[in-house]
Amino acid sequence: MQTADVVIIGAGIVGSSIAYHLTAAGCRNILVIERASALGKGSTGKSMGGVRAQFSMPISIQMSLYSIPFYADFEQQLGFPCDYRPQGYLFCATNRKQLAYLHTNYQLQVKMGLKDVRLLAGDEIRSMFPQLRADDILGGSFCSTDGFVDPYSAMNGFMSWASDHGATLWKNTVVCGIQRDNDGVVSVETTRGRVATQKVVNCAGAWAAEVAALAGVDLPVQPLRRMLVPSEPFDEFPHTAPMIIDMSNGFHFRPEARGFLLAWNDPEETTGFKTDFDPGFIEKVLTRAADRVPCFANLPVNPKRAWAGLYEMTPDHHPILGQAPGVPGFFLANGFSGHGVMHAPATGKILSDLILAGKTDLIDASLLNLSRFAEDRLIHETAVL
Ligand SMILES: Cc1cc2nc3c(=O)[nH]c(=O)nc-3n(C[C@H](O)[C@H](O)[C@H](O)COP(=O)(O)OP(=O)(O)OC[C@H]3O[C@@H](n4cnc5c(N)ncnc54)[C@H](O)[C@@H]3O)c2cc1C
Repeated sequence: MQTADVVIIGAGIVGSSIAYHLTAAGCRNILVIERASALGKGSTGKSMGGVRAQFSMPISIQMSLYSIPFYADFEQQLGFPCDYRPQGYLFCATNRKQLAYLHTNYQLQVKMGLKDVRLLAGDEIRSMFPQLRADDILGGSFCSTDGFVDPYSAMNGFMSWASDHGATLWKNTVVCGIQRDNDGVVSVETTRGRVATQKVVNCAGAWAAEVAALAGVDLPVQPLRRMLVPSEPFDEFPHTAPMIIDMSNGFHFRPEARGFLLAWNDPEETTGFKTDFDPGFIEKVLTRAADRVPCFANLPVNPKRAWAGLYEMTPDHHPILGQAPGVPGFFLANGFSGHGVMHAPATGKILSDLILAGKTDLIDASLLNLSRFAEDRLIHETAVL
């Protein structure tokens, strides 16, 4: 029977980052199991690639304070590109409540050690981007080290580095069972046979609850469709722009190639494994786009290039990290609620620490464990796009 020190289920950006961090820490006998024929077919390949430290909760900020500098050094450290572009995130507030919220977040972010965040007056935003309809923008917050990465490149970089340094990747292989005895995990059942292991990491993204159920664990992670609309080449708005968020309705956009990538989280969307793109979304997002950026009334989009993917949502919009209670050896890295790309480096480090040493200095990992739901210790992140 095949044996592995650690089996990672799912080779998206999270599984790949964990494989990298474990390998870099000296763990060699790692097996990553991916059911698809190629990497990136889950949420990672559908992502908008935004990375930011502008959050409302300390633990989210801590994870970004590890992850964003990691992405900045990615190519130098790993020898593969991740295309980190520090063009910033600009939150635009249109009422006093939002402004106060940004102010509170700003104070927390600075206290936590974020150096490049600043509050902006409405006039500053108007002069930075005269193309915006800014009559109702009272102010905002901007962080210049926030920005974008190419999630697909980052995932491949993590996995290629891990493979080059001893990790094994099985594609076209489904994990269909997890066996345990009184002491914990003993093996996983796959479509290529059984693998003996005492450590398994669930990195199955939106499908994480199904994988957790194989180990008898009830995981509160639900799939939620998100849709993105890319434009054709368009030069009437600067391509150096940050991710710009209209807080009046959640519409946000960023430059992508020679055009722009438009997003809006429809509050009427319901949970479920829906990965079809709804053509009706185009008008919804373009209406909001033209309202905030009048020249976007002329933005050319090709509906055939638009796509949908799945967020993996938890009840408090924070991930679930660490060993599952009652199942020694079964680790969780799930439920990123829209932040799995930006928090993948920190997640890799935290899981590697927990698997190899049983503890981590990066965060207080007990705050993100699965037990928090049963113990009513939810920590709500409200800066979710
Ligand atoms: C439209 C959209 C925009 C987004 N924008 C951003 C953003 O701007 N910034 C950000 O940080 N995040 C963003 N996200 C979220 C981000 O993409 C995800 O949080 C992240 O990709 C999750 O990575 P993952 O590796 O956990 O999951 P995935 O990439 O989904 O990988 C999970 C893998 O597990 C495999 N798998 C599942 N079950 C099994 C099994 N039984 N056996 C073997 N393999 C299995 C799947 O095939 C899949 O490849 C966005 C998501 C979407 C959909």
